[in-house]
Amino acid sequence: MNEMQLKFLSRSENEVFARNVVAAFALPLNPTLDELSDVKTAVSEAVTNCIVHGYRGCEGWITLCCKLDGDVLHIRISDDGRGIDDLEQALTPFYTSLPEEERSGMGFTIMQTFMTAFSVSSEAGKGTIVTMSKQFGARATEDAR
Ligand code: ATP
Ligand code: MG
Repeated sequence: MNEMQLKFLSRSENEVFARNVVAAFALPLNPTLDELSDVKTAVSEAVTNCIVHGYRGCEGWITLCCKLDGDVLHIRISDDGRGIDDLEQALTPFYTSLPEEERSGMGFTIMQTFMTAFSVSSEAGKGTIVTMSKQFGARATEDAR
């Protein structure tokens, strides 16, 4: 069991910072390059959403919490921004509230696909919390069966 918490500003350069922090934290689990890449992509999508949608380019705090529990990495990424009115709509593949910025509306779908578990909770005007986890070595375990 290991745990970390980090708070950083909603600046675009912190997307790369956050994804590399999580990758470094997960290293004791001996992840494969594919597993690491999945986690980094999911973290990037979640942090980008906080920056682009949560704070709409204004400055605000993003909180990142990670936990290692056995061979599972738990990640929680939250902002205190605008929040989401219609969660079901937001989770629909290809839905984006910013089509004029050429967003593809695939961030949540990517997080869902690349991680073992994913959930989001949000309150309009209060903020958004994305919780996801990745089980490392899952494929190796399945192959061994
Ligand atoms: P892409 O991720 O492909 O660039 P996108 O960000 O619009 O496009 P998703 O990441 O799937 O697509 O998010 C869907 C929608 O959910 C967003 O368009 C936005 O309206 C809303 N949303 C997502 N994250 C947040 C957040 N942290 N705060 C407020 N709204 C959010
Ligand atoms: Mg997105």
